[in-house]
Amino acid sequence: MQCAFEAVIFSGVTSDSAICNQENNELSTPVKLAVNGAAGRMGRQLLAAIAEHQDGYLTGAADAPGQPTIGIDTSVLGGGEATGVLVTDDLSVLLGSSQVIVDFTAPAVSLGVLEAVADSEVAVVVGTTGFNPEQLKQLEAYALKTPIMFAPNYSVGVTVALDLLDKAARALGDDYDVEVIEAHHRHKVDAPSGTALKMGDVVAKALGRDLNECAVYGREGITGSRDTQTIGFETIRAGDIIGEHTVLFAGNGERIEITHRATDRMTFARGAIRAAVWLASQPPGLYDMRDVLGLT
Ligand code: NAD
Repeated sequence: MQCAFEAVIFSGVTSDSAICNQENNELSTPVKLAVNGAAGRMGRQLLAAIAEHQDGYLTGAADAPGQPTIGIDTSVLGGGEATGVLVTDDLSVLLGSSQVIVDFTAPAVSLGVLEAVADSEVAVVVGTTGFNPEQLKQLEAYALKTPIMFAPNYSVGVTVALDLLDKAARALGDDYDVEVIEAHHRHKVDAPSGTALKMGDVVAKALGRDLNECAVYGREGITGSRDTQTIGFETIRAGDIIGEHTVLFAGNGERIEITHRATDRMTFARGAIRAAVWLASQPPGLYDMRDVLGLT
């Protein structure tokens, strides 16, 4: 079917009118998107990614109370022309205006968003990492009521790497030692990264192990020889590294390394907005990027 309408754009904000989806050349209604944590490193990239996405438009942005960015136009953070959307510290404003909230903040903040939307139609993309096991259980429980997208890494490349890791671990089996090495910028507050833990979990499951029982986080002192059933994690925090992950499978006489390097935060932001547009039409449940890419 050929598209019969074009996007209607006023001051950089796309209206509710039907627009042409270039992927399938069909008409679709653009999704109303909001960003929580809008002034953060990822928040600013998310605002820019929404501005360039044809199937969604910005209807809300929020950050923490007391931040100097409250009340300013989001274009100051995300670049481009004025959007007319002002940063608020009132989450209920986002609830009233958006279909999907994209949240890259902190675990307690993200859980607060999920609690706030629980009795509404609003879906949530959670980009935050660093949830403890109890918080993860709470997040899963909210998915009974709300469509939730939860991925420690929204890049398409990492999603494909997770698939490769599953295949590699199944083929290599228990004869190869597995180590996960990750590096991030000096401001990152959680370690190992959510992506590193996800990679370890994928490998552990493929090998029939429980990551909670076989993970070893860093080594120091007289450690004794390596237990072949363990999966080791090494963390580097330095400078402005955006995100690098290597999973090493080391056997006798050879080793395989699967590496992903992010060089631009926009890769996470574009993936998260693609996920948000996809999530808008899903029923309550817990989803990840593999669902968006059709890998499940
Ligand atoms: P950041 O510290 O730069 O930004 C966090 C933002 O959240 C800040 O602007 C802060 O003011 C805001 N915030 C804090 N409390 C709030 C509240 N109560 N309400 C609204 N906003 C609030 O951090 P960042 O580098 O943008 O990372 C944010 C999170 O995203 C981290 O957990 C990080 O690990 C994760 N992350 C995930 C991916 C991914 O692909 N899933 C990629 C990069 C970063």
